[in-house]
Amino acid sequence: MLAQTGVPKLEDLAGVMPSEERLAQGPVAMAECFQNIPCDPCYHSCRRQAIQPFADINDRPQINHDNCNGCGICLSRCPGMAIFIIDQTYSENESLVKMPYEYLPLPLEKDSVVAVNRAGEAVGEAKVVKVQSNEKLEGTSIVWLAVPNELTMEVRHFKLKEVR
Ligand code: SF4
Ligand code: SF4
Repeated sequence: MLAQTGVPKLEDLAGVMPSEERLAQGPVAMAECFQNIPCDPCYHSCRRQAIQPFADINDRPQINHDNCNGCGICLSRCPGMAIFIIDQTYSENESLVKMPYEYLPLPLEKDSVVAVNRAGEAVGEAKVVKVQSNEKLEGTSIVWLAVPNELTMEVRHFKLKEVR
């Protein structure tokens, strides 16, 4: 159960996942934020009004995926590291998953890394496409991972294969 394990199940994810039609159109945000906590910077950061107004600050974010262009600003503002940008149009065999990352050392672009699921289990390999890290991001880097299409909805973290 999510409250005990912290790991969402398919039924939890079903409520926050963009539709197949929207995923086929390009980058889109997915907010995997499942607890009612007093937090709303995602809502305030979105310039496209894709995140619905919170009636109460403890509400969970509701994204209108049709208004979202996958810009990733909400990802960079989320203190819970709960937002991911998914781009299923990246290439024929791979999707792009943009994720927050707060470990050091940072990976390097073109690194091959171990792809990890929400439970922390290795599920395959992924390639680092880009690493965004600057003062504005305040210690939370954003890593763009190319993952095999079949792992798009599984990979939410990664491990370096070696520390240089
Ligand atoms: S990715 Fe951009 S447009 Fe989409 S919800 Fe986040 S801030 Fe709004
Ligand atoms: S900023 Fe992140 S943790 Fe806070 S409500 Fe939004 S998605 Fe959840």
